[in-house]
Amino acid sequence: MSVKETLKAVYYSLANVSKKPVTRRYPEEPLPVTKRSRGMLSLDMDNCIGCELCFRICPADAIRMQKINMQFPRNARDEAPAIDFNKCIFCGLCSEICPPQVLHHTHKFDISTPDRRELVYTPFKLKAVFSEIVAKHPEEYESHIMAEIPDQKPGVESQSTQKTPQQNEPPIPKNPGTA
Ligand code: SF4
Ligand code: SF4
Repeated sequence: MSVKETLKAVYYSLANVSKKPVTRRYPEEPLPVTKRSRGMLSLDMDNCIGCELCFRICPADAIRMQKINMQFPRNARDEAPAIDFNKCIFCGLCSEICPPQVLHHTHKFDISTPDRRELVYTPFKLKAVFSEIVAKHPEEYESHIMAEIPDQKPGVESQSTQKTPQQNEPPIPKNPGTA
């Protein structure tokens, strides 16, 4: 390095000594996220109705329906979504289309892991995300926590079975290549 370059480096170093750092000490100082940011998905599995709409709309083929063997009265198919976060593009379509609004993005985004198999989330793992992140921070995720759906009375459609605008549209074709 020439004398001129050395002096230039010293000049720029001294000129920045009194300025605030432009970098952050992540993860100790994480960047704030907005309320509408789309991070890891959570599932309120107890209230999932197994309708498969999330599976059918996913453009990245990241969702598979999985048997849960829980016999929830509202989930006649006894199945709920499993999500492969290796494929998920965090588009939010599954969350938007979910009729009972039980599938939601959280603000958690640091989900990297050395083993990609760990990024395949079963319904139970998604439920754990709901319990650990959403249910414990109701002030932050107020809109994610649904009101109790009243049990269906004969002749009266419950909130969960009323047709949404999406359900009145023609059925969404399955993703190419899915079973
Ligand atoms: S956020 Fe988008 S890509 Fe991810 S699982 Fe939902 S629909 Fe699929
Ligand atoms: S769209 Fe919602 S209710 Fe339907 S299967 Fe997916 S998570 Fe369950």
